[in-house]
Amino acid sequence: MSHQHRLDTGAEFEAVIGLEVHCQLATESKIFCSCPARRVEGKSVSEIAPNLNSCPICAAHPGTLPVLNRKVVEYAIRAGLATHCTIAKNNVFARKNYFYPDLPKGYQISQYDKPICENGFIEISTGSVLRKIPIQRIHMEEDAGKSVHSGSYTTVNLNRAGVPLVEIVSGPDLRSAEEAGAYLRALYAIVTYIGICDGNLQEGNFRCDANVSVMPKGSKVLGTRAEIKNVNSFKFVEKAIEYEIVRQISVIQGGGKIVQETRTYDADQDITISMRSKEEAHDYRYFPDPDLVSVQIDDAWIERVRKSLPELPEQKKTRYVEELGLSVYDAGVLTGSQTLAGFFEQVLELLEKSGIAAKSGAKPVANLLTGEVARRLNEEAIEITQSLLKPEHLSDAVQLLQSEALSSTGAKQLLSIAWKTGEKVSVIVSREGLTQVSDVSTLEPAIDQVIAANPKQVGAFRAAPEENAKLIGFFVGQVMKATGGKANPGMLQELIKTRLLKG
Ligand code: ADP
Ligand code: MG
Ligand code: ZN
Repeated sequence: MSHQHRLDTGAEFEAVIGLEVHCQLATESKIFCSCPARRVEGKSVSEIAPNLNSCPICAAHPGTLPVLNRKVVEYAIRAGLATHCTIAKNNVFARKNYFYPDLPKGYQISQYDKPICENGFIEISTGSVLRKIPIQRIHMEEDAGKSVHSGSYTTVNLNRAGVPLVEIVSGPDLRSAEEAGAYLRALYAIVTYIGICDGNLQEGNFRCDANVSVMPKGSKVLGTRAEIKNVNSFKFVEKAIEYEIVRQISVIQGGGKIVQETRTYDADQDITISMRSKEEAHDYRYFPDPDLVSVQIDDAWIERVRKSLPELPEQKKTRYVEELGLSVYDAGVLTGSQTLAGFFEQVLELLEKSGIAAKSGAKPVANLLTGEVARRLNEEAIEITQSLLKPEHLSDAVQLLQSEALSSTGAKQLLSIAWKTGEKVSVIVSREGLTQVSDVSTLEPAIDQVIAANPKQVGAFRAAPEENAKLIGFFVGQVMKATGGKANPGMLQELIKTRLLKG
C-alpha cells in the first residue's frame, strides 16, 4: 500500500482509522411515528420551536407502539446497494438501553447483530492513489432528542427524537487523516446522489465518529483506539485525527498506554479531550424489540430499488473521463458533489443548444468550475445551488471564450463579479469593458501607429527576423498599451508578425 500524503507518524508507527457516520435519512416522516422528519411549513425540524414536533410515540408515552416507516428500509437498501453491500433478508430491530435525558424511552431502537447491509466498500482517491475502503455494516436506527445546556440548567428538545438515521461503519482500514477526509467526501457524495440524505452539515445531517489507533509499523495487531465523537465538518474530522495520531504516539513514546475511551474535539484549541471511558456492547443490554416484527426483504424489492438508483459518483467520474475527455482530477472535483455535477451538466446542455458539443465545451467549463468556483464553494462551505452563480453565467462565459471575445483572465474577472452580484454576463461585460478586441479593423490602425513610431526596431527586425524574433513581443506590448490591454494577444502576435515580414 502506498499512502503518499500521509502524516509523518515517525518511522516506527502507523495509524489506523475507522469511521462511523450517522446519516439522517430524508424521509418525510419519522421512523416509528407520523411526525415530520424533515421540514415543517418550510422550516427544518431544528428550526421550529422546541417540542412542537413530537407526539406520544416519539415522546415515549406509556402504551404507545412504534410502526415502522417503510421508506426508511428502502433508503437503507439504497445505501447498501450504492456501497456494494449484501442486503439482509431478515431484519430485526433491537433495543439499545442507556439512560440520558434526551432519550425518553430509556432505550434507542437500533439494529444489533443483524444489520440491514454488510460487507461493502467504497472507492476513494487521494492524489493519484485509488483505494477500496471496506464498509463493515449499515444499520437503521432512530435519532435521540437534544439536550440544550443553558447556564445552570438543561432543557430537552424532542423535535429530532425518532428522526431516522443509518449508521454507516467503515472497516479499520483508513491510514491517514487525509484518507479519512477523502472517505467522508466520497460517502457524502454517494448519499446525496442517491437522494437518501439532504446533506446539510450545519444541521448535523451527516456526522461522524472517528476511531483512531496507532500501532508499530507493519504490525498485524491493531492498537487500542480512542473514539472521537460527533464531528460534523470534514475539515475538523481531519484535524481531530491528525491531533489524535500525534497524541497517541507521544503517549506511547513517553512510556504510557492508550486507554480505550471516548474523546471530543475542541475546534478552538484544535485538540481532543477525554470525555469518558468507552462503553462496551454488553453495557447496553441489547435485545430484540418485542414491539416490532422482523422485516422481510425479498429479491424483488431489492431489484426494484437497484433499478431506481441514479448514476453514482464513481460511474459519473468514469464517464466524464472517457466520454468528455476530462482529467481524472477535474472529473473528481465535479462529481464530488451532486449539485456541482448537476450544475456542470446543465451548462453543457445550454452550450449544446447554442451549437457547442458537450465534448468541446466540457474542458473550458471544467476549467472555470474546478478552479475559481470550487475554491469559493470550499471557502464559503456552500453548495453551488446556494450561490448566485447560474449555469447561464458559465455557458455565456465559455461562448465568449471560444469566440475569443473574452480572455481567460477576463473570464475569471467576469465570474468573480457574477459570484458577488449574480448579474447577467452581458451586463457585467459591457460595464466592466471585459471583452477583448479580436477585430482586425480595430487592431490594424493601432499596429500601423506603433510601427510608424518605432522605425529603429522595425529596421532591426527586418534586417534579421530570426535573431530579433523577441522584438515581436515589444510590438505586442506597445499595441497592448495603446488599446488599454484589450487586444487579443494571440491575434495581435500573428498580425504584427505578418505586417513586419511583409515590409
Ligand atoms: P463501537 O464503536 O460501536 O464499539 P465497533 O467496535 O464495531 O463499534 O467499531 C466501530 C468502528 O471502529 C469501526 O469503524 C471500526 O473500523 C473502528 N475500529 C475498530 N477497532 C479499531 C482500532 N483498533 N483502530 C481504529 N479503528 C478501529
Ligand atoms: Mg463507535
Ligand atoms: Zn412522533
